[in-house]
Amino acid sequence: MTTVRHSVCALDCPDTCSLLINVDEAGQGSKLRGNPDHPVTRGFLCGKVARYLEREYHPDRLLYPLRRRGPKGEAQAEWERIGWNEALDTIAAKLKQTSDEFGPEAILPYSYAGTMGTLQGSSMDRRFFHRLGASRLDRTICSSTGGAALMLSQGAKLGMEPEQFVHAKLIIAWGANVLGTNVHLWPFIVEARRRGAKFWVIDPVKNRTGRAADRHFAVNPGSDLALALGLAHIILKNGWEDRRYIDAHTAGFADYEKLSADYTPDRVAEWTGLCACEIEEIARVYAQTKPAAIRLNYGVQRSERGGAAVRAVAALPVLTGQWRHEGGGLQLSTSGGFQFNRAGLEQPDLQKLSPLGREARLINMTELGAELLERTAPPVKALVVYNSNPAAIAPNSARVVAGLKRRDLFTVVLEQFLTDTADYADIVLPVTTFLEHTDLYLAYGHYYLQMARPALPAPGEAKSNVEIFRLLAKRMGFREPCFDDSEDDMIRQALASESPFLEGITLERLEREHSVRLSISQQGVPFLPFADGGFATPVGKFEFGAEALKYAPAAESRFGSAELKLRFPLELISSKNDDSMNSTFGHRAEVDAQTGVAEINPVDAAARGIMDGDAIRLRNDRGQYFCRARVAVHAKPGVVRVPSTRWAKTAPGGLGVNQLTSSRLTDIGGGATFYSCLVEAELAQPTESR
Ligand code: SF4
Repeated sequence: MTTVRHSVCALDCPDTCSLLINVDEAGQGSKLRGNPDHPVTRGFLCGKVARYLEREYHPDRLLYPLRRRGPKGEAQAEWERIGWNEALDTIAAKLKQTSDEFGPEAILPYSYAGTMGTLQGSSMDRRFFHRLGASRLDRTICSSTGGAALMLSQGAKLGMEPEQFVHAKLIIAWGANVLGTNVHLWPFIVEARRRGAKFWVIDPVKNRTGRAADRHFAVNPGSDLALALGLAHIILKNGWEDRRYIDAHTAGFADYEKLSADYTPDRVAEWTGLCACEIEEIARVYAQTKPAAIRLNYGVQRSERGGAAVRAVAALPVLTGQWRHEGGGLQLSTSGGFQFNRAGLEQPDLQKLSPLGREARLINMTELGAELLERTAPPVKALVVYNSNPAAIAPNSARVVAGLKRRDLFTVVLEQFLTDTADYADIVLPVTTFLEHTDLYLAYGHYYLQMARPALPAPGEAKSNVEIFRLLAKRMGFREPCFDDSEDDMIRQALASESPFLEGITLERLEREHSVRLSISQQGVPFLPFADGGFATPVGKFEFGAEALKYAPAAESRFGSAELKLRFPLELISSKNDDSMNSTFGHRAEVDAQTGVAEINPVDAAARGIMDGDAIRLRNDRGQYFCRARVAVHAKPGVVRVPSTRWAKTAPGGLGVNQLTSSRLTDIGGGATFYSCLVEAELAQPTESR
């Protein structure tokens, strides 16, 4: 008999879908679909996950622990199957030896959002590394800049509920490819448009969402800060601001008003590539339409001034009082609603019991290459990678790979497939997918907390991250009771929070209902987080922060460095591919076809003798990337767009697009500047592009 089981999509996506899967008596899954009863999932999935069972049952799934034989970094390296006891004993012995010889900070965990599950992503693993005294990882690679910016301005990572977008009369998707990366917001936008709303897109690339919009504004990469200040300039000059809201709920307005006076439409037009009349139009329509919603996404914060850009965009609904209205405001993230008891879950106090006896040093994951190659006192001698594939996704990847190749670096990788990074591992451990383990899921695009139990049996000898770190803790001789905690124990600990948003939510209720709306407002009453102020900054007001918002073009932009611009005149945007998720689906051949292209404007292509479909090379001082040219007006002149990310080992020359990107950090939150990147494009030699 077939049963229907509940699960939750664990991919790094704001939608965090509620899933249903048919499972037969033998435990075989079929028919994976979106839960029709979930208020945001609404019965459909994106294309990448609708076919997830292909991945689940793929013949290349890792089933047993492996030990590498032969040199590091060879895709066809020979692997020897070993038992779990041998694998865990080897890892424990090596970590102990590393700690004894170099100190525990010579051990570095490296993980990110390969799963969004709270337990498999940040629970027993954190306890293990804290007890060890290992270096702490600053998890900056994707969203830390935007998150830090919201915290500085709003004091909370809160935003509009997706359900409220239907009430908006104007929706601006700012750096947000809704159809590609947030598709469950789309039905709400469709409904708003059916009721008469306008839908505008601000993005350097005219992607699918831009093509479906009423208007698309092709802003230059990294100039969002200038645009937001230019809009403020026009709004204030015309007296369209909401003085009552500003006076009651903000701090630093006078300085912000003074700063924005410099950002005249003509100056801003020069930086943004929009014409002054377009900037005037955006400001006028936005300020005069109530309610208006901004869906800001993380692309905007991936440039050198990305943090300031987020703060300046977040100032617009404050300036105009949009937050007062149902359907007005901004959404970058809703994750601040999920205020788990993190200390209970991750137990940072265990560091006091480590040989270090104190808080360990913090290493920024965006700078992994430099950390592996240059860090001393102590150097990184052991690396444990899980929920991530840094050889593919980290910037400046030539440096990352050079570090991973070090013969004196002991590397363990917990994985479902032999990824680019696994090719450099000494030991690979097979891990479960989200369909095979228990987890608790927050979301960053809605306010529903979800729990999932294993829907399918784990294949072969695969184990969950939680189980692996629990076993490793025993091998290391850690006796603290927290290493015996079950998944249920940890869910209860996570929910044991003082936050009113988690009031009334228990494991039992999640077990019963699978998905529970946070206690952010009464059922049926919209959550308007800042309608009456309620900002959670130290002063209890929205902080304009004018002193940090002054626009100066990034070093790597067409305006930032004359010398670089001459050598590398094109700006690279390596934004998310619509049909894959970072490197998670790198084993799919069609991902290579989708991502192995560069969209280049006909003007730029003609100037270089490039025709549609030509094999081309993108290059800069950091590296090179071979792909096919897609000559299209989707990329504005001066911009090249590459969908990201494929596995480097299946790309020509074994080179991924992150050969080109920089590990320089953003202005706030120490994030990655993937979209501050200058390149040149040229025809590739036939032998180069294979
Ligand atoms: S990737 Fe996003 S849209 Fe696709 S199923 Fe997962 S949560 Fe839903």
